[in-house]
Amino acid sequence: MKVTQNKADLKIKGVKLLCMDKDYHYYEDGCLLVSNGKIIGAGHNNDFTHIEADRVIDGYNKLCMPGLVNTHTHAGMSIYRGVADDLPLMTWLNEHIWPLEAKFGTKESVNVGTRLSLIEMLRSGTTTFCDMYFFAEEVGAIAKEYGMRAIIGEGIIDFPTPSMKSPGDALDHMAYLVEKWGNEDLISVAFSPHAPYSCDKGVLKEAKSRANALNCLFHIHLSESQNEVEQCREKFGLTPTAYLDSLGIIDRNSIAAHCVHLTEEDRQIIVEKGMGVSHNPQSNMKISSGIAPIFDLIQKGARVGIGTDGCASNNNLNMFEEMDFASKLQKVDTMNPTALDAKTTVSIGTLWGADILGLSNVCGSLEVGKDADFILIDLDQPQLTPFYNPYSHIIYAMNGSEVDSVFIKGNSIMEKRIFTSIDMESVMNEAKSFEKDIRLFKKG
Ligand SMILES: [Zn+2]
Repeated sequence: MKVTQNKADLKIKGVKLLCMDKDYHYYEDGCLLVSNGKIIGAGHNNDFTHIEADRVIDGYNKLCMPGLVNTHTHAGMSIYRGVADDLPLMTWLNEHIWPLEAKFGTKESVNVGTRLSLIEMLRSGTTTFCDMYFFAEEVGAIAKEYGMRAIIGEGIIDFPTPSMKSPGDALDHMAYLVEKWGNEDLISVAFSPHAPYSCDKGVLKEAKSRANALNCLFHIHLSESQNEVEQCREKFGLTPTAYLDSLGIIDRNSIAAHCVHLTEEDRQIIVEKGMGVSHNPQSNMKISSGIAPIFDLIQKGARVGIGTDGCASNNNLNMFEEMDFASKLQKVDTMNPTALDAKTTVSIGTLWGADILGLSNVCGSLEVGKDADFILIDLDQPQLTPFYNPYSHIIYAMNGSEVDSVFIKGNSIMEKRIFTSIDMESVMNEAKSFEKDIRLFKKG
C-alpha cells in the first residue's frame, strides 16, 4: 500500500508485519507508518524507504501485529483473584463474590482493581477491552488516563449494587456516561445488564431500547450454565437465547458472553440475527460450565470474539493464553485437530473481536485509515525459535511475556516492557493493601 504523504510521525521499519486484515497480508520484511494516530502505510519495507518519520523504530527480529481485543472483562475484580476457586458458578457468586463485593466493592477498590487489570492486559498485548462492572465511570476515567481503548458498562442487576441503588438508577447512569464519553475517541459505552436470570424482563427491554436510542452496544452474560437454561425454561418456557430474542435483544448490536449451552434453534437465532458471541474458554472450564460450541457457531457463520472474563474466574487476563485454550478446547471437544486453526484463532482475538464490539472500522487489523493500535513482539526468545509461521507461534508458543511494546492510536504506552507513563509498582502496592482485610473477612 502506497502512502500519499512523504512524512510520518512514526515508522516501524524492517519488521515482520502481520496485518490481520481480511486478506491476511503478512510481510517478512515489512514497514508500518503512522501519522496523527492513524496508519498511513502498511506493506513491504522496500516500498517505504523514501518516507521519513519523526521517529523510527528498528523492527529487526520483532513481530508487529494488531493489539489484542478482549471482548469480556470485569476489570475491577482483580483484587478478588484467587480468593474463591474450585466452585460451581452459583455457589461462587452467591457465597463468595457477591458478599465480597457487598463488603469491599467501593469506588476505591474498583479504581485499584481496574488499574491493576489494565496494566496486566497492556503487558500481555491487549489494547482494547469491553468491560462490565460497578463504578463504570471510574473504569472509563482510568482507561482514558492510561490511553487504552475501552467499552465500559455499568453492571445492571435486580438488587442494589455497590454503586447503584436500583436498575433504574443504573440505566440513567448509563445515559449520563454516553453523554460524558460521547466525544472521546477511545472510550465508548455498552448497556450491560448482568444476565437473563438476574435482571427483570422490563429492565432488559428498557436497557436494549436505550442502547438502541443512544446507538450503543448491549452486553450481557448468556447461557453460561445448564442450571440457567433449566431455570429459564421453567420460568418462561424458553431457552435463555429464545427468551432474549422474544424481547428483541438478539441483534448485531448485542454481544453475549459465554453462550455455552445452546440448542440448534439457539444457534440459528444467533447466526441469523448476527449477535456477537464472546467466548470465555478458561472461565467456562474453571467453573465447569461446559464447552461453548464455538467451532460449530463459526461454521454456521456466527460473529465471535474472545474474552477472559473477570480474573476471579480465570485467573488472569492474558489473551495469548485465552486464544491457546480456545483453539485446543474446540479440538478436543470436536475430536478434530483442524478446528479453530491458529490463523482463525488469531483473527478471533483481533479483527473479529473488534467486529463484535462495533470497532472493526477503527482497530483489530493493521490497515491504512485505521487507528494505530499495535504491539511489537520480541522474537529473540527460545520458545519462539526457530520462526516459521507467525499464527502458529502466537497461538501455540507465546505466553504474552514476549510483548515488547504497545501503541494505541499511535501513542506509546509501553516500550521494552517499560510503561511510558503508568506507575505499575504503586498500583501493585495499592492492590496488596486489600489482602489483609479480605483475608480477615473470609475467615470470619
Ligand atoms: Zn463475565
